[in-house]
Amino acid sequence: MDTDFFSDIFNDVNNDSNILDMGLQECKCSACGSILNSKDKLNKCSFCGSENVISSQCSSDYTNTYIIPFMKNKEDAIKDYKKKVLFNPIIPMIFKKKSTISSCSKMYLASSLCDLHLGGTTTFIGIDKNDKNSQSKHEVVNTVNFDYNNVLVCDNSKIDGSSYFEICECNYSNLKEFDSNYLNDSVILFGDLDEKDICTKVSNLAVKTSLGMIRDNVQHDTKKLGKNGLVLDNFKRKRVLIPVYILNVKYDNKNYMYLMNGENGKSLINLTFGKIELAIVSLLIFGLIFLIAFLVAYFL
Ligand SMILES: [Zn+2]
Repeated sequence: MDTDFFSDIFNDVNNDSNILDMGLQECKCSACGSILNSKDKLNKCSFCGSENVISSQCSSDYTNTYIIPFMKNKEDAIKDYKKKVLFNPIIPMIFKKKSTISSCSKMYLASSLCDLHLGGTTTFIGIDKNDKNSQSKHEVVNTVNFDYNNVLVCDNSKIDGSSYFEICECNYSNLKEFDSNYLNDSVILFGDLDEKDICTKVSNLAVKTSLGMIRDNVQHDTKKLGKNGLVLDNFKRKRVLIPVYILNVKYDNKNYMYLMNGENGKSLINLTFGKIELAIVSLLIFGLIFLIAFLVAYFL
């Protein structure tokens, strides 16, 4: 895609940008690079927990920004998190520690709600198993038009895309114009992707979905994409702040994230098992089997 295309479509977004004084604080984390906005000054990063944060005056522009207010409270999130980890004996202890559980953050994720149109001609190559001449290929040409509305993507690369999709079916009729009164005790996590990245992310998603739909309608046994001539146009983006509860757990040099949608309560967690915990559980099971076998042998 050429640069003119991008500068054209982003002109809409960047119009009327006045920096509003919302009385917000800005904070940058030196450890993870997150930029956060909040009503009160932050002493540590709400995303990674690091205390290496630099505070500054908020320079963010919230014109043309919408927000979906929280419907779930922190207790709901903590209860749900506990249900997912507490009773599973092979999950590492660090997931169950009080300090881990209390690090749950209430956040608004900077996101983009996009509309776009995809159109063009695609060619699929189809081959049938029972063709007498197995070499014969069928060219299936389709000219298509797809309109996509309300495609939501996160503006932050630190949030895993598939986890985000899984929890983020929001109620878009509930969009409110941004007002700092919605923040209360929550913080806004800025996006680190620029407008081009976001457009590419949305476009890739839409192309993948569209090609999948076209492919499903090709009536041959095997089908391969020959030529993808889909072109994106009419891209529109709305900035939306999505309410979530986030809990980050570091274990064995890896990050595991719990995410809950603050509007509908949908949640998920990436889990792992602990080596020590697994060994203990295995020993207990082995011991139990041994004991039962012993008792059976002894009494029969
Ligand atoms: Zn951080």
